[in-house]
Amino acid sequence: MSNGTHYEVLARKYRPQTFSELAGQEHVSRTLQNAIDSGRVAHAFLFTGARGVGKTSTARIMAKTLNCSVGVTHEPCNVCPQCIEITKGTSTDVFEIDGASNNGVDDVRDLRDNIKYLPSHSRYRIIIIDEVHMLSTNAFNALLKTLEEPPEHVKFIFATTEPHKLPVTILSRCQRFDFKRVTLPKIIARLREIAEKESVTVSDASLALIARKGDGSMRDSLTAFDQVLAFCGNSVSDEDVGTLLGTIDRRLLADISAAVFGGDTQGVLAGIRQVDLVGYNMRQFCQELIEHFRNLLVIRSVKKPEEILDIAAAELDELQKQSLHISALDIQRRLTLFIKAESEMSYANFPRLIVEMALLKAALLAPLVPIQELIEKIKALETAAVHTPSLPWEAARAASAPAPYHAEMQSTAPSRPSQPATVSAHPSTGAPAPESSGGFTDWGRFVAYVNGEDRQLGSVLEHGSPIKQEKELIEIGFPAGSYFLTAGQDTEFIADVQRLACTFMGGNTVIRVKSIEAGLAGAPLSLVEKKKSDAEQLLDELKQEVTNHPVIIEAQRVFGGTITDVRKY
Ligand SMILES: [Zn+2]
Repeated sequence: MSNGTHYEVLARKYRPQTFSELAGQEHVSRTLQNAIDSGRVAHAFLFTGARGVGKTSTARIMAKTLNCSVGVTHEPCNVCPQCIEITKGTSTDVFEIDGASNNGVDDVRDLRDNIKYLPSHSRYRIIIIDEVHMLSTNAFNALLKTLEEPPEHVKFIFATTEPHKLPVTILSRCQRFDFKRVTLPKIIARLREIAEKESVTVSDASLALIARKGDGSMRDSLTAFDQVLAFCGNSVSDEDVGTLLGTIDRRLLADISAAVFGGDTQGVLAGIRQVDLVGYNMRQFCQELIEHFRNLLVIRSVKKPEEILDIAAAELDELQKQSLHISALDIQRRLTLFIKAESEMSYANFPRLIVEMALLKAALLAPLVPIQELIEKIKALETAAVHTPSLPWEAARAASAPAPYHAEMQSTAPSRPSQPATVSAHPSTGAPAPESSGGFTDWGRFVAYVNGEDRQLGSVLEHGSPIKQEKELIEIGFPAGSYFLTAGQDTEFIADVQRLACTFMGGNTVIRVKSIEAGLAGAPLSLVEKKKSDAEQLLDELKQEVTNHPVIIEAQRVFGGTITDVRKY
């Protein structure tokens, strides 16, 4: 690695010196650069965000762009005396103050006296206060006086991890920038760059472990990388990284979860033993297990998991492979077990036992077969039984029968193979098709037409009952006292509907609006009511059909279950 005598830590050595080197804070860089380009640079900035995400680095880059002797451009030159001094921290016009140690009113007074003078050889005097929330109340008050009437040649840059601790009077005088946690792929990419510059051989898996340790902080990730390099030298092995950082090897997690889903109790216990052997904290292991299962669940539940999970691309691929044959429901049931175990571990004396029990339970969970799948299976059996009215196992044997028989079976099930003759034998009790219900269809078409022209008019009409529907007269009833009656009786509404009705009917149609008593017998249903009643009727019929369906009856008998809910998909 380095030549021995002096080792500069990576976070310092690779501190970003330009906006373009600043990883993961593009939204901040872009806004600041735009401000610089347009000459609208505020006199006070507040940078907020977690530790190690680039706040102080950005403050220094900003200071350099403002004072660079090449000119105020949107990247510092980094070679002129001003830039070099700021990088080294020796500029007499840029004051970097740690709010945690210089938090008294005297410090701020000194500062105020100091900024009265013009910069010695730069454009601005720039005050950077890190951890600004640590200042005392009196110090804040002193600072506020300066912020209220800042001299032209002074710029303030404040950084804090806890913006809520700042007085509103300060907050309101600053342009605020919220720094994000750096995403895992971005940290990994930066680590990869550095590894190449340092000629270090390291796998992507190891870099991912190191980045994970940083938990969204670039600085913490680089510190972890320092630690690894100090131990491993220029050739980093995955095992060493895992042991050193106390992170669990992803492969071990993958093996254990495979054992869980495979019902392999031996494998599960061997995995735990391995975890214990490397001296890993059981509770932390359980938390990682939860995270692992959560990742699997997200992958199985959404189309674009990469937008939700903060994991490296390679790991995502790996997880996708692992979750391929597992249902979201099966993952969820196990996840619940682990979450429960984790909470029990906080006050237990035998953390290992608790994890083992949870994992064994998870491994022995019977897989849930979706009822849909069961029904399909039974239906298939039944279809076969229709043709060979005998016992199921004979049907199963028939399925693997020689070609001629097989061909015949296929030909008798042309377009709806899952609908055996016995079921269609008792005809559907479904309502007649809506086309035959005359006027109502016209009403439906009319409302659809109005909806297309004017959504607002249409939404009111949907609640109206077509009492009379003739070419010359449409009479619409709305429930007495309802909002829709009020809306319907509005003269403008009537005029608008009438205009549309004339176009629709191709004649002179008059619209009349009436009040009808709620639940009045004989009044035709409004579209909204009809839709609701249709849905209820459909569900009723569906329930009826399901309860009486021979396959369901058989399934209930075989599995000893009861129907709790019938839903339409
Ligand atoms: Zn410069």
